[in-house]
Amino acid sequence: MGSRCLACQAVFVPPRSLCPKCDSSTMEWQRMDGRGKLVAFTCIAIGTPAMLKLGYGRENPYCTGVVELEENARVVARIEGVDTRNPGSISVGMPLQVDFLREEGDSGSRTVLAFRPLPAG
Ligand SMILES: [Zn+2]
Repeated sequence: MGSRCLACQAVFVPPRSLCPKCDSSTMEWQRMDGRGKLVAFTCIAIGTPAMLKLGYGRENPYCTGVVELEENARVVARIEGVDTRNPGSISVGMPLQVDFLREEGDSGSRTVLAFRPLPAG
C-alpha cells in the first residue's frame, strides 16, 4: 500500500501522512498493483553483517534497486531473480513484479520488499 495526496495526486511508497511536494495532509490509501520497471540498481558484494548472515557476500552479491511503479511512485527494494555476479545482464527499464521475502534476523523474522523480473512473454 502507498498513499496518494488528494491535493496534488502525488503517490508515495511507503505511505506518508504529509505530502512532501505540497505540504498537504489530505492523503488517502492507494493500493499498488506491484508492477513497475527498474530505474537504477547496484549489486552489493560487501554487505552489512545482517546480510552476511543471510549468506550474501563476495561470492553471492545481492541487488538493491529503485523501482518506478505503474502508479508513478518510486520505491527502493531488493531485486531478486537476477544474476548479481553478472550485473551487465541486469538492465534499466526491465519490467518487474513485486515479491515479499521472509527473512530471519537477530530480532526475529521480517518481511522484505523485493521485486523480480516479469516472466518473458
Ligand atoms: Zn501533494
